[in-house]
Amino acid sequence: MKSNRKILLEEHEMPRQWYNLAADLPGTLNPPLGPDGQPIGPDALAPVFPMNLIEQEVSTERWIDIPEKVLEMLWLWRPSPLVRAYALEKALGTPARIYYKNEGLSPAGSHKPNTAVAQAYYNKEFGIKRLTTETGAGQWGSALAFACSLLGMECKVFMVRVSFDQKPFRKMLMQAWGGDCVASPSEETQAGRDVLAQYPDTPGSLGIAISEAVEAAVTDKTGQTRYSLGSVLNHVMLHQTIIGLEAKKQLEKINEKLPDVVIACAGGGSNFAGLSFPFMLDKINGAEIEIIPVEPASCPTLTRAPYAYDHGDLAKLTPLLAMYSLGHGFIPPPIHAGGLRYHGMSPLVSHAVNHGLATPLALHQLECYEAGVLFARTEGIIPAPETNHAIASAIREAKKAREEGKEKVILFNFSGHGLMDLTGYDKFLHGQLEDYSLSDSEYERFTEVLKEYPVPVR
Ligand SMILES: *Cc1c(COP(=O)(O)O)cnc(C)c1O
Repeated sequence: MKSNRKILLEEHEMPRQWYNLAADLPGTLNPPLGPDGQPIGPDALAPVFPMNLIEQEVSTERWIDIPEKVLEMLWLWRPSPLVRAYALEKALGTPARIYYKNEGLSPAGSHKPNTAVAQAYYNKEFGIKRLTTETGAGQWGSALAFACSLLGMECKVFMVRVSFDQKPFRKMLMQAWGGDCVASPSEETQAGRDVLAQYPDTPGSLGIAISEAVEAAVTDKTGQTRYSLGSVLNHVMLHQTIIGLEAKKQLEKINEKLPDVVIACAGGGSNFAGLSFPFMLDKINGAEIEIIPVEPASCPTLTRAPYAYDHGDLAKLTPLLAMYSLGHGFIPPPIHAGGLRYHGMSPLVSHAVNHGLATPLALHQLECYEAGVLFARTEGIIPAPETNHAIASAIREAKKAREEGKEKVILFNFSGHGLMDLTGYDKFLHGQLEDYSLSDSEYERFTEVLKEYPVPVR
């Protein structure tokens, strides 16, 4: 029997600082722009986010201390195990050593609580009593409801209508944690009412739900409500770096070398940033590491969309962010990886791609489900449909290592389990899933809006 299947850290070995890639990125980051096309200052964000998080958003400090209270909350499920995927390696007959970081063991079942507890904490410190947010399939909404329950805060979640109706289990999780979850578009906001007046039967979208959640926060006259975003923004990437920092310590603990390949799926970019940014620092300092964000071919943000200024939401309430974007009106095809259907991408991840620090890959969902099923039948855990994108890429790399006869080290992020997403597996196993490509005409139609905005420098 081989040892070191799981590489564990003690609680006291968990990193006590987050890593901020903004300190080390080459070039200059394009600033967020206001409605007048001018860079916005921190004050412009103050109605939406608490100032302590805005400070993190714009910080260029390399290391940022994790507050004691946040460490305590993270200890509920962290450090997360690093697992050597011996059984998957064997099934693939690869000389590669495959490791994955299991973020599926958090209370909400994904990496999202890593930032949820931090964001709730900073809001509470700032005197905020209630958080609003949006959620697609419900992973982020449930993570934030969980975090708010730990801190005795209220949580209001606008959940994309189609998921609200078709995927009730995460709504129930939110309710169990004391969150208030409504279907979006709703009658509760102007943004929601406007959409409903025009399209009463709309399935909703993440862009609409973000508009509703931001509006609900900024129109609260008590001033005690703020909005919380589960991905994309710099401070979210920061909070997730605990994943990669732990992974580094774990690899060191077994005297493993730096990975040759680091892989994670990318929706808004947070679990990818979380695992990869600490290794990107090594790459910036000369290490040879291939870093791969994997996205769906049906929502090809990094691999096909332009690097542009765009809004994060449909109602254009958010500032313009410099990012890869399919256009804020993008309506994604109905693939099962709900967390990978966002039109935009983290500006930090976008910038890293522009500077050759990461090489994105787009995959179709059938290949990803096939990979997920192989993983489930070897390593035992049923992965989230999003996570299957990372696994499929890791399998490609492992096969490549076999062909090249190279003992590569492959590290990927297991961003979450799929126990709430079994309908996708059901369809896959019954031959009812198909691949979707974004047609050229749809691509043109959605990205048309970007022509109105300033063009960011690369
Ligand atoms: C939300 C989610 C993602 C995608 O979000 P990122 O911000 O790109 O990480 C990926 N995997 C799982 C399990 C998720 O819940």
